[in-house]
Amino acid sequence: MGSGHKAALQRCIAADCGAQYDLHDPVFACRACGGLLDLCYDWSRCAPPRKLADFAHRWRAPDHSPDGRLDSSGVWRFRELLPFAAPDELVTIGEGRTILQQADELARNLGLKADRLFLQYEGFNPSGSFKDNGMSAAFTMARKLGKRRVACASTGNTSASLALYARHTTTQTGDPMQAVVFVGGGKIALGKLAQALDYGATTIQIDGDFDACMRIIEEAADRVGLYVVNSVNPFRLEGQKTIMYRVLERLNWEVPDWIIVPGGNLGNSSAFGKAFIELKELGLVDRVPRLAIINATGANALYELYERRGLRWNGGRWDRSAVDRLHAERRERGVTAKTVATAIEIGRPVNLPKALRSLEAMSGVVREVSDEAILDAKAMVGLHGYGCEPASAASVAGLRVLLEDKTVSASDRVVCILTGHTLKDADATVKYHQGSGQFANAPLRCAADIEAIAAVLATS
Ligand SMILES: *Cc1c(COP(=O)(O)O)cnc(C)c1O
Ligand SMILES: [Zn+2]
Repeated sequence: MGSGHKAALQRCIAADCGAQYDLHDPVFACRACGGLLDLCYDWSRCAPPRKLADFAHRWRAPDHSPDGRLDSSGVWRFRELLPFAAPDELVTIGEGRTILQQADELARNLGLKADRLFLQYEGFNPSGSFKDNGMSAAFTMARKLGKRRVACASTGNTSASLALYARHTTTQTGDPMQAVVFVGGGKIALGKLAQALDYGATTIQIDGDFDACMRIIEEAADRVGLYVVNSVNPFRLEGQKTIMYRVLERLNWEVPDWIIVPGGNLGNSSAFGKAFIELKELGLVDRVPRLAIINATGANALYELYERRGLRWNGGRWDRSAVDRLHAERRERGVTAKTVATAIEIGRPVNLPKALRSLEAMSGVVREVSDEAILDAKAMVGLHGYGCEPASAASVAGLRVLLEDKTVSASDRVVCILTGHTLKDADATVKYHQGSGQFANAPLRCAADIEAIAAVLATS
């Protein structure tokens, strides 16, 4: 503790604690109060850019110089805004080469003016989800700390990302890294489990849900020397800030009106708020967008606490008892998280306080959407865009709600974050299209006969 005036350190986010830890302290949660930690920079000792457009020259095809390697990473080309490691320490496998698609047809279908809607496809990352943004930063730290076992508990995408990074990273002494993945006995989308297995992760199935996995892993961390990269890991969130930098980059550094993101463990929501708090502090933006976090109705702890019970960040003095009360009530009633969007099927979001901070900094709102609305929105992204997995489509389903309740207006400039690739959960997609959803597109049965095919095509 008490690390003086370093350029970067870890600090507890609770206003009544604020304990500080050295950058290299492998602390998991605040030792004083159990709270979440944040990376804090003394910007006067770093070299932040004078304007965001200074980053523009870096967006180029990969070349083989050390700078080219970093500049072609969508995370590390913004390295001055997450300056916790030296350039030669940074781990990259080409994350963050993602696409911001202007989605005019989808905009019109939803009732937004054309050229107002943008979809940020984080599914185009190497392991198929936004998690790679954070994993490059977490692995950078694992390597700096000399760790060789990296672990997570996961609903799927974190383990896929972790497994891939472990394969492509060696320790400082050149040894391979070992990926250790804990999955619950319950639901995990097959595409994601397949990735963890295929990339060679040691995969341990625990009897119990995600929350049980999380408890085990925290206890095991010290005992068997695991570096834990769940989204409580503050370094991961540093990497995820860059999703916002890339959105701004593709909008020519113009700040949109809204950022809409699905909310699971609330790592993205937390990272986005921190990104804008810092950009504002550095004078690199003159305003911040509003944030909308979208829960699934079956996993709506944040919605319940923020919109129904009025829980607020309150300068870092949020009412912890309100959170405990909700979880106790739900435990008593036997309520557990349940949604088709498995990536956001989280009962107790670990980053909740940081998400409250983001909601305050970005004048945010929270909405909940049904599984049916999520799957319809997913089909719309498939029809009018490049597709996404169920959890991702919560952002578009949320936009529909926000347009209906007039929180978002037809002329607002909106960015929906699509967190994962459409192939992650092919089961859910095929099931939807064989059902009675609004956009269902079931395969047509037909005899192997030209006349029969002609007849089918004539009526379809
Ligand atoms: C992890 C994940 C989420 C949830 O993100 P949080 O940062 O935990 O809120 C949403 N969608 C996909 C596809 C994910 O993999
Ligand atoms: Zn603390």
